[in-house]
Amino acid sequence: MNNNELIKRDLSVLWHPCTQMKDHEWLPLIPIKRGKGVWLEDYDGNRYLDAISSWWVNLFGHSNPKINAAIQQQSKQLEHVLLAGFSHEPAVKLAEELVKILPEPLERCFFTDNGSSAVEAALKMSYHYWRNLGQNGKTKFIALTNSYHGETLGALAVGGVDLYKKTYHPLLMDVLTVQSPDCFYREPGESNRDYSIRMFEPMRRKLEKYHKEVCAVIIEPLVQCAGNMRMYDSIYLWLLRQACNEFGVHLIADEIATGFGRTGSMFACEQADISPDIMCLSKGLTGGYLPLAVVATTDRLYRAFYDDYETLKAFLHSHSYTGNALACSAAIATLAIFKEKNVIKNNKSLEKCMLDAVLPIVDHPHVAEIRQQGMIIAIEMVKNKATKESFPWQQRRGLHVYQYGLKNEMLLRPLGNVVYFMPPYVIKPQEIRQMADVAIKGIDLATKN
Ligand SMILES: *Cc1c(COP(=O)(O)O)cnc(C)c1O
Repeated sequence: MNNNELIKRDLSVLWHPCTQMKDHEWLPLIPIKRGKGVWLEDYDGNRYLDAISSWWVNLFGHSNPKINAAIQQQSKQLEHVLLAGFSHEPAVKLAEELVKILPEPLERCFFTDNGSSAVEAALKMSYHYWRNLGQNGKTKFIALTNSYHGETLGALAVGGVDLYKKTYHPLLMDVLTVQSPDCFYREPGESNRDYSIRMFEPMRRKLEKYHKEVCAVIIEPLVQCAGNMRMYDSIYLWLLRQACNEFGVHLIADEIATGFGRTGSMFACEQADISPDIMCLSKGLTGGYLPLAVVATTDRLYRAFYDDYETLKAFLHSHSYTGNALACSAAIATLAIFKEKNVIKNNKSLEKCMLDAVLPIVDHPHVAEIRQQGMIIAIEMVKNKATKESFPWQQRRGLHVYQYGLKNEMLLRPLGNVVYFMPPYVIKPQEIRQMADVAIKGIDLATKN
């Protein structure tokens, strides 16, 4: 088997996610034969450093021996059983381990099987909570512009990235939208903190005006990942937590991308010293092995559903693979690695190494800024550095960087004009420098003329 053979077979039967399939008339698909650590290898023997953790899911490398062993072990015992009326140790143990590390007072775990379905469950849970309390007027959600919460209709409705949303607009529920504190738009000389405080005003006004109709505010803490890795200051989260308390509205933190150390702390919310009423987790949860998600919530919220059957207060939401035992075993192994290797602390030196490695491009005439939040670093390409005017999207400058990367052993997958790194935590300093070198050269080439 070589690349071409597999590509041919693939293109005759598969429909790939997030892809204009016609692009593959000239843009080769990359069939991957195996992965080890940060490296992927195709069927022709070419290697690619997975600088984006295979869409932000991988934490401790491909084919990680510890996670492999955990799944193998579990598969001999039990692969899956329904989680309604039944239970199993991996689900219980995983929930126990999560409750130990989640910000207080999150202490109850509801499993779903991917990020979007976790967001759906969180929205329904919040709405249903208020309904169970007799507050039937609460039917709306507040979301930020430039946010991303997944692709299913409910999750898409609370998202704010036009590229994914606009086409489906007639199908989506109405959502109250507030301007994102995205610090790319701060004034020259203004700090991220000051800008984030200033941008909280529209959120406060929205809450003041609509809180009686609002179930929850849903946000991605600190980094709007799919929204071009735009970032804001933790003060915004702190202010939002206070305001949600004041106005009697839930705070839903979508940590599907930011959770498990990506932003430099286990959960991004920790940096604001806050806890949401509902937290969504997925992606890194299983170390990038298997689809699994958690909707974590408080005892207070849980109690509002706990009553005699006839009251019809139960949360009758489910997915077939909810709490899959193999996925739970991968997640337990992943959390064990965090503890054993003191990962959050040890990542600090990798974070510094990543920044040092990209600093040489900070003065480039087509780089608007380099921004970092923990293990995420983003370089924003612009047409005009002074005005931050962006390149027209039709020029697909990011795609040029992607193509250059592939020719140079690097899987970079820019979001629009933003080149970013979100590597597995097992990356070595030498590999970080290699990643940065390719990105820098790629950006330079992609922004010429
Ligand atoms: C990826 C992502 C989702 C959706 O998760 P899926 O597993 O892809 O459905 C939701 N929210 C955020 C913040 C994400 O990054």
